[in-house]
Parts: sequence; C-alpha cells; structure tokens
Amino acid sequence: MAVKLTGIEHIGIAVRSLAEAVPAYEKILGVACSGIEEVADQGVRTAFFRFGQAKIELLEPITAEGPLARFIEKRGEGIHHIALALPDAGAALDDLAAAGVQVIDREPRRGAEGLAIGFLHPRSAHGALIELCSKPKKKPPGRPRAATARRSGEAPTPSEQPR
Ligand code: ZN
Repeated sequence: MAVKLTGIEHIGIAVRSLAEAVPAYEKILGVACSGIEEVADQGVRTAFFRFGQAKIELLEPITAEGPLARFIEKRGEGIHHIALALPDAGAALDDLAAAGVQVIDREPRRGAEGLAIGFLHPRSAHGALIELCSKPKKKPPGRPRAATARRSGEAPTPSEQPR
C-alpha cells in the first residue's frame, strides 16, 4: 500500500457564510485567518486558520447546487471532512480504489493552497468524508501525471484549474 499517512492536514468545517464564521473562529481560536481562497473547481471559498501543527479550513459554498451547498442544506453547518496528509494522493487513490474503496476522485485535483487532493466516498468510510492531501510535487518517477507537474514556488494561475 502506498497509503503512508504523515498526519492530519486539516479539518474542514462547512459554514453558510465566511463573513460570519471567520470572526467567530478568530475569537474561538485566538488566531487570525491566514487567508481566504476561492476554489472554483469545487464551488467553494475557503478560509484557513493555523495553530501549532494544526489547520482548520472553513468552507463556504459559492454556488447553490454544489455538493457543499447540498451538504449544508441536508445536514446543516458543521464538520464536513477530515483531510489526511500523505506524500502522494494520486498513488493512494489508485491503491485504495484497487482495494475496493469507493473514491470520489480517481485522479487528484488542485485544492486550496495548491495541494493535490482527492476525496474518498463517505459510503466507504462509515459516513465520514475523507480527503487525501499531498503537496504538489515534481512528477514522481514512473508516474506521469500532468495535472500535478508544477514546480514548487511557481504560483498557480487561475487558468490552471483542472476540469
Ligand atoms: Zn479540505
């Protein structure tokens, strides 16, 4: 198995409004929001908070019909996903799919902060939405993967959104 976890990358919390949730979390956590980013691909706007080794991601839907908007409609605001850090999200998605785990993404896509991300289906994880996260990397040897072939330090451009 290529699934070698290195930690929890972040915990994602679904909120209706960043304008309301960001000040609330700044008060609770005692740290300032470290940045707001729109991930058009996923129909979300995200805000990150960092403290120690940990990170919390608030997610606000920017479209009325995206999966996040549907999640909030059905289940309300609250914990949405757990993101696990590992060296190669693409390899892990391949291995887990081969092992019979239902994956939402067959290939990693670009998430907030330029990370390569892929989701597992909650059906396979007893109700929890699990995100696999890896730092974008130079192509791993023997695994051509055009979407993640970005050199570190290079700023992603909006036109680089996969799909
Ligand atoms: Zn996330």
